[in-house]
Amino acid sequence: MKNYRAELTGVFGDPVDDNPTGVVEEAAFAAKNLNYRYLTIKVRPEDLETAMNSVRIFDMRGINLTMPHKIKVIPYLDELSPAAEIIGAVNTVIQKDGRLYGENTDGKGFVTALKAFGETLENKTVTILGAGGAARAIAVECALNGARQIHIINRSQEKGMELAALIRSRTKSDSAYIPWTRNIVIPEDTDILINGTSIGFSPNVTEKPDVDYTSIRPNMCVCDVIFNPCDTLFLKAAQKNGAKTVNGLGMLVQQAALNFTLWTGEEAPVEVMEEALRKEF
Ligand code: NDP
Repeated sequence: MKNYRAELTGVFGDPVDDNPTGVVEEAAFAAKNLNYRYLTIKVRPEDLETAMNSVRIFDMRGINLTMPHKIKVIPYLDELSPAAEIIGAVNTVIQKDGRLYGENTDGKGFVTALKAFGETLENKTVTILGAGGAARAIAVECALNGARQIHIINRSQEKGMELAALIRSRTKSDSAYIPWTRNIVIPEDTDILINGTSIGFSPNVTEKPDVDYTSIRPNMCVCDVIFNPCDTLFLKAAQKNGAKTVNGLGMLVQQAALNFTLWTGEEAPVEVMEEALRKEF
């Protein structure tokens, strides 16, 4: 029998018009010859409960959540992954037999991208600039992957202290908050340094985090969450010092790949997805 019904996935957000994930997932579905669709859907905050019910009603395979729904969606889910539970935010939902399972693939995408560059986290010291949604997911996932120490450097003291306390209380890693003073020196014991802030995102491409760039050493692996542009001033400055760098495209592609596998059960065509994204930017 011929099947005219496509399997549905997508993203709920507001605003959501400029979210490029659909391009990446649709390229992957096509490459794997899967009759799946990825819909970019505007859902206002007050409509989130109804929208989540519609995931069940339309028998969707799942949905991504972006701003402002990542935290607010939790009461409408049946189950959370351990990482999503600690992070307190969900970016991917899988629907099976009417049950909604929440996962957070932001941090997992980062860790997968890091490993693809030949880096490991076991016993490493990680320094993260930022304590927002992306930094939080990355910090938790680095801790769950064996990082020994996580330094959190953030402009707002309250958020920075809260994230360090979360890592200490909910994971086996040690963590401390370091106030972001001007021209801050990166702790000498840092193995992996991550810009988890929004500094440098297009159109503000001439901005870079206020750190003492002479304190970035050649033995450090330096990463950025910013994917547009992917060659940020932060990474360029780190490269000048001889450090190995990992850009934000890898994280974006790897989390989209994880979502693809969670929804379809198939291995993701990562190279196709990366190429689709590269063309987009
Ligand atoms: P949030 O708004 O949750 O957090 C922003 C963070 O940046 C906060 O820690 C904030 O500090 C800090 N920040 C912003 N401006 C400055 C500044 N001028 N000086 C110092 N600190 C600053 O955003 P998200 O965490 O959700 O996203 C952060 C970035 O990560 C975005 O650009 C997003 O596009 C990118 N991202 C990339 C992904 C990828 O796959 N590559 C995935 C998810 C996000 P404070 O707490 O003091 O306000």
